[in-house]
Amino acid sequence: MRVAVLLPNHLNQCFDYAVPMDVHLGLGDHVQVSFNGREMIGVVWEAPTAVDESRKLKPILSQLTHVPPMSNAMREFIEWVAWYTAAPLGAALRMALPVKLTEPLRQRRKVTNNKKTPPPSLAALDADQQHAADQLCASVSNGFSTTLLDGVTGSGKTEVYFAAVASAISKGKQALILLPEIALSIQWLERFEARFGFMPEVWHSNVSPAKKRDTYLKLARGEASVVVGARSALFLPFHTLGIIVVDEEHDGSYKQEDGVMYHARDMAVIRAKKENAPIILASATPSVESWHNAKQGKYKLISLSKRYSDASMPDIALIDLRRDPPERGEFLSMPIRRAMAEALARGEQSLLFLNRRGYAPLMLCRKCGHRFACTSCSSWMVMHKGAKKLSCHHCGKEERLPEICPSCNTEDCLHACGPGVERIVEEVKHFLPEARIGCLSSDGEENSSLADIIHAMQEGTLDVLVGTQMVAKGHHFEKLSLVGVVDADLGLAGGDLRAMERTYQLLHQISGRAGRAHIKGQALVQTFSPEHPALQALVSDDREKFMQQELQSRKIAHMPPFTRLLAVIIESHREDEVANVARMMASHFPSHAKARLYGPAPAPLYRLRNWFRWRMLVVADRELKLQSLADEWQSRVKLPLNIKCKWDVDPYSFL
Ligand SMILES: [Zn+2]
Ligand SMILES: [Zn+2]
Repeated sequence: MRVAVLLPNHLNQCFDYAVPMDVHLGLGDHVQVSFNGREMIGVVWEAPTAVDESRKLKPILSQLTHVPPMSNAMREFIEWVAWYTAAPLGAALRMALPVKLTEPLRQRRKVTNNKKTPPPSLAALDADQQHAADQLCASVSNGFSTTLLDGVTGSGKTEVYFAAVASAISKGKQALILLPEIALSIQWLERFEARFGFMPEVWHSNVSPAKKRDTYLKLARGEASVVVGARSALFLPFHTLGIIVVDEEHDGSYKQEDGVMYHARDMAVIRAKKENAPIILASATPSVESWHNAKQGKYKLISLSKRYSDASMPDIALIDLRRDPPERGEFLSMPIRRAMAEALARGEQSLLFLNRRGYAPLMLCRKCGHRFACTSCSSWMVMHKGAKKLSCHHCGKEERLPEICPSCNTEDCLHACGPGVERIVEEVKHFLPEARIGCLSSDGEENSSLADIIHAMQEGTLDVLVGTQMVAKGHHFEKLSLVGVVDADLGLAGGDLRAMERTYQLLHQISGRAGRAHIKGQALVQTFSPEHPALQALVSDDREKFMQQELQSRKIAHMPPFTRLLAVIIESHREDEVANVARMMASHFPSHAKARLYGPAPAPLYRLRNWFRWRMLVVADRELKLQSLADEWQSRVKLPLNIKCKWDVDPYSFL
């Protein structure tokens, strides 16, 4: 007999192997084979057939009997992902085999915890929440369905979807909860444990390989009931998956930007469909796409509009920086400074948000105008004052902070332009010297430990927290009454199709941090363009209006969700070659009445890690199968081996 085995490599095909006499293989079995002189684990992808005597096939080396076979649903899902993202089948399989399965088994611990009946919910649900929970619980026994759970910050949507998860567990099924990695905090896990009486399996980039392997096998065998994880958890094997929750469904980190370029929220809907299970997309600020699907009746919509236990939404006010400019060389206007001083006097906390790490985004020489740019990327080096370094936030390159200008050799001439969080901390220290200040960003050197700072904020031993978008997620600070947004225009200047939407979501989440418990919150947003629709929608708290405007402008511009996009990025180390190859590819574009090709053109981020980059964008009518078009296009061109070509279906980054 022979079997077709799919291997986790870059290829889009299966390979035939001979089945030894004493081995009985079925679809989905994991096997060890030799491929190009290397031993690899693959999956039986097609049923065994009688062997053709004339062919010499390499034998299957062994069968991994300790790993349950990959289910039909999972194999169909992998095929679908590869097809949808125009990626090789082997690359899609690799995401589903993230652990070393060959190592000998560790002594298995007795699993007792997960079988316990969950204790009753700690916080009783109010009438609205109970109604929402009842609807979700009902969907647990009804096969595939997609529900958008739209709940304002503080409306208790987590407790509501927990009820659905509990219902799935009580039916002996498993649950997958996806969260952006940044939101998967200790606080979240404690909340889960308080509700369910056990800890879920956790899956993200910092979990050790041994622990991951343990989780992988427990899920495949049905010995673990709940996994909470970042986007890659979507490819875990489940024994009987009964529900998927995608929390913060609007979050940009669900899009994987390298390798197989997939969107975990969208693929999760397909996984749920293949597993015939319900899926809940939860958010306080749903994506335009999901909101549109809900309004069209494609998704069920459940809205939670009241804040839990009568905490009220903060008052949001815009500060027009043209009228209230900060002092020269400073970045906080008088209204924010006054409000911060008042909060401090009342013993309450403030939070300042600026989505920029480091001290200043650019350093230049005042004498000769020299600007410090990365030598591998088309970007400026960001100044980090505390760590005395310059760093490129695209490739990670670092240099010591220079004292003289390398171009004109002048001393004391280097000038930091614009603010990063470090500089805001410095400014606050200056005008509120008595305040205790913490800084939260993903830079190690600016804070000892993120957990320590969050803890200090909760304990009330900090008065002011300055942070990047890390502060936007899931933290409850009871004494926080003021949120200041240092530069609301940053995101709006981005110019890509979701810039407005993202800015609105981020600002909404940040301002929702204030006044979560018993103090009435206030949010002050600094901007040079207070008339901007995203900011106006924020102030008037009229999301419906914002969404309608946003959809209308996307319709006029022929953008998603009214069309489909495919981005093609060509990269080469040779600048002369990249342009030629991009033009050659464009000339082979399969022209189609329902698709238009834009470009090729140099990418906005033209050089990245010494790769020169060109981009093309295909805009297609929704009824056109972009994947067939990509297939045909790929078959028409033969690219030189030193060229990288990335296919990005439904792109989120346009850099
Ligand atoms: Zn100079
Ligand atoms: Zn760089």
